[in-house]
This record gives sequence, C-alpha cells and structure tokens, in this order.
Amino acid sequence: MSEDCIFCKIVAGAIPARKIHEDEEVIAFHDINPAAPVHFMIVPKAHIASLADAETHHAALLGRILLLAPKLAKEQGLHTGFRTIINTGKGGGQEVMHLHVHILGGGGLRAM
Ligand code: AMP
Ligand code: ZN
Repeated sequence: MSEDCIFCKIVAGAIPARKIHEDEEVIAFHDINPAAPVHFMIVPKAHIASLADAETHHAALLGRILLLAPKLAKEQGLHTGFRTIINTGKGGGQEVMHLHVHILGGGGLRAM
C-alpha cells in the first residue's frame, strides 16, 4: 500500500470502484473515464509503480494478470477480441503510478 495512490485506495476499499473481479492478488474494475464502450483495467493488489518497476519475483503475478484478460473480456461481452494497453512512465503516458493493464473493446478502436 502506497499512501496517496488512488489504486491502492481502491484495493483497500477506501475509494469505490465498479469492480468486475477480485481475488487474493488482483482486482479489476471499470475505467472511470472509458475510452471505448467496454474499458476496464486489471490491477495487482501490491503497489508496483509501473511495468518498469516489476521484478523477477513478479513474473507469476504478471502472467496471471495477462491470463485473466481474455476471461474477463469475454465476461464483459468482448467476444470478438479486445485491446490490451500498459502505459509505462511519463513517456508512455502513464498517469496513475500503480501498474495496471487496460482492456478495451466493443468498437471505436482505430488500427495501430
Ligand atoms: P494511465 O494513463 O494508464 O495511468 O491510466 C489511468 C487510468 O485510470 C485512466 O484511464 C483513468 O480514467 C483511470 N482512473 C483514474 N482514476 C480512477 C478511478 N478512481 N476509478 C477508475 N478508473 C480511474
Ligand atoms: Zn498503489
């Protein structure tokens, strides 16, 4: 838990979120400012500031998060596919400095 971290506060239940999944290590919730018809993010409960701060002992956790993505995407109705985004650091446009994987879909995504 990092003080003043908005995602740590969501993990702790101090700030509400529209949760779609929770287990011992991970939560997932809808983005408050969606960039697509379906837009949620998968977040490790542990405060890892960014992908650049992940360490070898986080490998299984990172794997679990990626494996959760297609399962939750399907549950959210994204049967034809989805986009996965991880913004890392200032140069990557990361605004919340707690590692998170965006899942987007349901239309309106330009090719990239
Ligand atoms: P990033 O630019 O990758 O750091 O993305 C941060 C994302 O967190 C943005 O898409 C925000 O809309 C989203 N966000 C910020 N605060 C909240 C919140 N309280 N609940 C849900 N999503 C949030
Ligand atoms: Zn945090």
